[in-house]
Amino acid sequence: MKPLTAETSERDRAGRPVDPTILNRMEIDLKALDHNFRLVRKIVGPGVRIHPSVKSGAYGLAISDVAQRFAALGAEAISCGSYEDARTVRDAGLTDTDVVVFGTILPSGIPAYLDLNLIPTVHNMELAEAVSSCTTRPARVYVKVDAGLGRLGFPIRTAEAAILKIARMPNVVVEGIYTHLPFSDADGARWAQERTALFDALIDRLRRGGLSVPVTQARSSPGVIFGINDSCNSVAPGGALYGKPPLANDLADFSAFRPVLSAIRSRLIHISPDAADRTPGMFGRYAHRVTGATGVIPFGRKDGNDAARSGHTSFAIVKGVKAPVLAVSSEQSVLDLSNVPDPKLGDDVTILGRDGELEVTLPDLARWRETGMNDVLLMMSGRMPQVIRQ
Ligand SMILES: *Cc1c(COP(=O)(O)O)cnc(C)c1O
Repeated sequence: MKPLTAETSERDRAGRPVDPTILNRMEIDLKALDHNFRLVRKIVGPGVRIHPSVKSGAYGLAISDVAQRFAALGAEAISCGSYEDARTVRDAGLTDTDVVVFGTILPSGIPAYLDLNLIPTVHNMELAEAVSSCTTRPARVYVKVDAGLGRLGFPIRTAEAAILKIARMPNVVVEGIYTHLPFSDADGARWAQERTALFDALIDRLRRGGLSVPVTQARSSPGVIFGINDSCNSVAPGGALYGKPPLANDLADFSAFRPVLSAIRSRLIHISPDAADRTPGMFGRYAHRVTGATGVIPFGRKDGNDAARSGHTSFAIVKGVKAPVLAVSSEQSVLDLSNVPDPKLGDDVTILGRDGELEVTLPDLARWRETGMNDVLLMMSGRMPQVIRQ
């Protein structure tokens, strides 16, 4: 992707040089990441390790910068979703940081993970055997237990025997045991608390049997924010650290957290001032009903944009004023500029973030599209330059 450069005399409202060939950009606020990390530190209390998740390329938000920041903030390890993420973290200069990889591993891939000094997750016996057979030095692993989600891991019913077997394998060091119990509502919270108790009991049985595992972990963002009780000494939040609310407002107060994705902006590339020129054609179908000007931004489906589902009206912000989104096509979107005073080519358009008194949030975009916040983020991931605010 083309780096952001400053080759022209054009300036934005803050006086910063603007490259006229880069029209869409995502602003990432690392101070918000600092703030959220410290909040989580306060919530989990002293003595509990934080292993932030940077999976899916830090949820589409500048994984290299984010991982460096987490390390600088004192994260005890970084949790990655894939080899690719882990490699990016190593390439970002985090050569000594403990990096745990959640999954996406085949036994035949294990040597590559160990070569990068990554800590692979062992979620089946084949993976444990691969670690044991491909190394002549002790290699650390995390064992994943399926405490009820029904995805990766040793089923909790038989996990004790499996873990004891792995711990006896030559050159395999069981450094951590973890489970994943995501939820989003009150029923889910009850389920997660119940399953966490079973996980705690498993750790306790292992300990009493003589196997003390240094790192135990069961809480991701919803567990941390809701306050699931566990006896573990580590948490692995992702979304919450990026300021993405993990739960409905009535279940937990998330208002102290700040969005790390602080803005998505585009610029007006075309203005069609006269309603008389519009017919009810394919895109005019929406626009011909507009009495004032319409405008076009080069932010379409290819950039991860999507139209609101029926019953919702989405809007962008132009000059501090609501500009309803009329249509989203592959390359562009059409906006209703009726209420925007004197719109000009090149004007900034805020798709997410604040402009004047108005704000569009990630939950707004997800609600309008009737989809999840992760879907909104991942649709845009890697599709536009990122402006990193330190
Ligand atoms: C994704 C994931 C997390 C982080 O989840 P968030 O909801 O983003 O906090 C933690 N642990 C595991 C195993 C995961 O897969």
